[in-house]
Amino acid sequence: MPAELAPEAALPSGADVARETPASPTAIDAREDLPAFGPRRALHPSIAGTDPVPRADREAPARGSSARRQPDLFAASDAEAAAADGAPASIAELVIAWQRTHGRHHLPWQNTRDPYRVWLSEVMLQQTQVSTVLGYYKRFLARFPDVRALAAAPLDDVLALWSGLGYYSRARLLHRCAQVVVAEHAGAFPATSAGLEQLPGIGRSTAAAIAAFCFGERVAILDGNVKRVLARVLAFDVDLASGAEQKRLWQHATDLLPAAGIERYTQGLMDLGAGVCHVRTPACTACPLRVRCAAAASGEPERYPFKTRRLRRGTREAVWLQLEWRGSIWLVRRDAKGVWGGLWSLPEFASAAEFDAATHGWPGSATVRPSFTHVLTHLDWTLHPVRWVLPEATAEAAVSRIVDAWPSGRWFANDAAPAAGIPAPLRRLLEEG
Ligand code: SF4
Repeated sequence: MPAELAPEAALPSGADVARETPASPTAIDAREDLPAFGPRRALHPSIAGTDPVPRADREAPARGSSARRQPDLFAASDAEAAAADGAPASIAELVIAWQRTHGRHHLPWQNTRDPYRVWLSEVMLQQTQVSTVLGYYKRFLARFPDVRALAAAPLDDVLALWSGLGYYSRARLLHRCAQVVVAEHAGAFPATSAGLEQLPGIGRSTAAAIAAFCFGERVAILDGNVKRVLARVLAFDVDLASGAEQKRLWQHATDLLPAAGIERYTQGLMDLGAGVCHVRTPACTACPLRVRCAAAASGEPERYPFKTRRLRRGTREAVWLQLEWRGSIWLVRRDAKGVWGGLWSLPEFASAAEFDAATHGWPGSATVRPSFTHVLTHLDWTLHPVRWVLPEATAEAAVSRIVDAWPSGRWFANDAAPAAGIPAPLRRLLEEG
């Protein structure tokens, strides 16, 4: 069954991180001091992290200095030193120390300060597993090695390379963003999170991740995984669907930032969210934050984060027309908005009756192919493909009358269609013959 990843199902597995349990006598000593945090209380100083320091902290490199500075992004920080000297460790110190020994260090988009590469990986990783992204990332960089190459490419080429990664609006915005960076910023990404956030498709958390990794900006991320980690650590027992509560969590995330070592801290939070603090079964015994985690102390960490508005899944069915003539297949461009936005796909009918009415009197013959259900985040979509081969001798005028029903369509040679920007389930269908 083809499946597009649901956000929660897309979490990387524990295989992406080391499995050892961190040993930290300091952290264990601190367990008894665990405060019972509620979201409406002021944060206890020990959990609130270190005091904010000016942006020009010791770890931050000069902006845009990727060519001048060796990317030792995770050099030992004062925070790690503090954690090691016997003082009670803050959340940031625990995360930083853990990331050093247990985090991920060799993913292809790490160990670089190139904003193009970091941006590309951040967009690809939104709601997609690391193991899935690896191949796409490599192919993308081979085809579009820099932002200018991506901006100059036809959108169809970008969508074709994205095919199978899902959430296609990401690909369209990626392409648009590259064009804006080239046209309005002379090919250089802005060097601040505030500047990055102005670009198409770059939200606050993505902007912060790029700014932290590439420019050393001391700024908080709050993607889905990190939201879960922090909501649990703080026992944030309010609905994160509320904009006001999200804002408060952003403030907490900012308050927790370390004075130095933003790169390792940011990566550490990502690693914890991806490989330890799982949605349904958080591995608290392997987590460096267990001594500071109010949700773990409650015995029911999986209760957090609270969600009162649950996504309601729907179902839908459609007949898919695989129309062929003289070695070509008719594909239609889907609307930019909605499922598979902007991709080439098969003409659709909402029901068998609608299909029968539209195809009444057509020359040729139909073959019903096996139905399948495509699983989307919000929808189970059952598709019933029907292959219709028009006789070779059918006059062009007669064929035109048939396909005129889909003005956004065109013929693709059968062997070229799988390489176009088409949805992964269609590619599989065509490859099956
Ligand atoms: S202790 Fe458990 S619930 Fe708390 S952050 Fe760690 S894995 Fe998540």
